Amino acid sequence: MERRKMIKTIGISGGVIAGGLILSTATAKKWGPNSPQVDDPREPSFWEKDAGQMPETTQLTSDIQVDMAVIGSGITGLSAACTLKELRPELKVCVLESHRPCSGASSRNSAHMKGEYHSWESIYSSEGPEVAFEWNKFSQRGLEDAINFTKTNNIDCNLHKETLMWLATRNKAGKLKTMAKRMKDVGLKGTIVTGKKFHDKVGTDFYQIGFEDFNNYITHPGKMMKGFLQTALDRGVMVYSASPVMAVANSDSKTETNILKTPKGSVAAKKVMFASNAYTPRIKGLLSSRMVPIVLATIATEPLTPSQKAAAGVEFDHMTEVQLISRTLGHTPDNRIYFRGILGYSSFNSCVWKNLDKAYNRLEREMKERMPWTRDLKVTLKWPGAVALTYSGKPIAGPLPLEGQYVSLGYGGFGMVNGYYHGKLVAHRMVGADHPDMKFLRGPSGWIPPEPSRSIGAKTFFSFTI
Ligand SMILES: Cc1cc2nc3c(=O)[nH]c(=O)nc-3n(C[C@H](O)[C@H](O)[C@H](O)COP(=O)(O)OP(=O)(O)OC[C@H]3O[C@@H](n4cnc5c(N)ncnc54)[C@H](O)[C@@H]3O)c2cc1C
Repeated sequence: MERRKMIKTIGISGGVIAGGLILSTATAKKWGPNSPQVDDPREPSFWEKDAGQMPETTQLTSDIQVDMAVIGSGITGLSAACTLKELRPELKVCVLESHRPCSGASSRNSAHMKGEYHSWESIYSSEGPEVAFEWNKFSQRGLEDAINFTKTNNIDCNLHKETLMWLATRNKAGKLKTMAKRMKDVGLKGTIVTGKKFHDKVGTDFYQIGFEDFNNYITHPGKMMKGFLQTALDRGVMVYSASPVMAVANSDSKTETNILKTPKGSVAAKKVMFASNAYTPRIKGLLSSRMVPIVLATIATEPLTPSQKAAAGVEFDHMTEVQLISRTLGHTPDNRIYFRGILGYSSFNSCVWKNLDKAYNRLEREMKERMPWTRDLKVTLKWPGAVALTYSGKPIAGPLPLEGQYVSLGYGGFGMVNGYYHGKLVAHRMVGADHPDMKFLRGPSGWIPPEPSRSIGAKTFFSFTI
């Protein structure tokens, strides 16, 4: 519900708008610069560095023809590409990536793999617990499928069940209790923790109450993405790095329905899927009126020595705050503490945050204020990342009105499972294969205005909420 409040503030107006998804070039201009952010520096995250060398890929430097092209090499795009090859091994499939493969949100996140549908709490409020239960069941099938995928393809990413502690200050205690009741109603297991037991676990007085969520899995996002990339390559997918798609033209030809232009070569593809996440509106304004990129950032400390760990005196949990503008705290396999915050909307649909140093300093202050046992730890790593939010909080996945064009994006902070599963389902749709969960794919809903209202609304919301 709160996410919706945020988008409403950004959007000023709501309402479901049906009809075409593709904006004319003239309309797209109202959303500001409309070519991909190729100058995005993309500092690697801890996860990307820790995964080691990614399998080799090269830039597209000629004109090629394929059956299926996927834009974006995150978990959504690689899941789709792997599925296309699994369903139809004879098809020529390529993935085009503007930067290093897997260097988007999929390798710079907080490592949670949750079988939860994005906006299940607002579905609960508007349609009741039974309907919310069905949507969460859908995401749980996605989680099981993702776990199976990693096992079948021998992806070594330390994917394991690990409790997630939801945290609330005194002010947010009511919200946490409501969430706990609703989770129970929709079959998600967990328990409320208070008093000394809670304090001993988290080691701070900043929060008053917690909820141990037993449904959470933790992965190593860098190693997971490396494994997905290797699987795609092993299946014969052609993956091109440093090959940003600047524009997609729809043509009359049945064999070259879509022409994708990159700086050094083009791809003629019968079908194309946009798995470009928060970066999508910068591709000629695509879906600008339906989604908004939000920039996040993470800081991580030096690895804790055994004596530092003992001095901290807390159980090492993964923790997250209940409110929408939340912070998340977790630990890496080498015992670093990482802390993730939300920075806000960067004007003109940019995924680059201008004053990152200031933002990192704020995060460090917030981490030390919330968890005093981190006070003497040195912050040694920092990285930003972007997510795509839609008006309803639900992803947009399925065909676009133009011939042979599909989309799978808008996964907010739940993309490691939902991006994976929706990418798989849209791939089924692209080759005309059936899947029992196809009915869960959704088109866009709700309208978000162009600049300057978008910036004014977003900045107003974040300045009052953070
Ligand atoms: C800090 C942070 C913490 C998060 N924590 C969690 C979490 O704990 N659990 C969870 O489930 N989710 C989390 N998320 C969200 C999750 O990471 C995303 O929802 C998910 O990774 C989306 O995957 P994707 O493949 O759709 O997008 P991405 O991984 O962003 O991939 C999109 C790719 O498309 C490429 N691209 C874009 N435009 C073009 C173009 N024009 N041409 C070619 N390539 C292009 C990009 O370079 C990028 O590599 C978090 C995100 C962030 C940033």
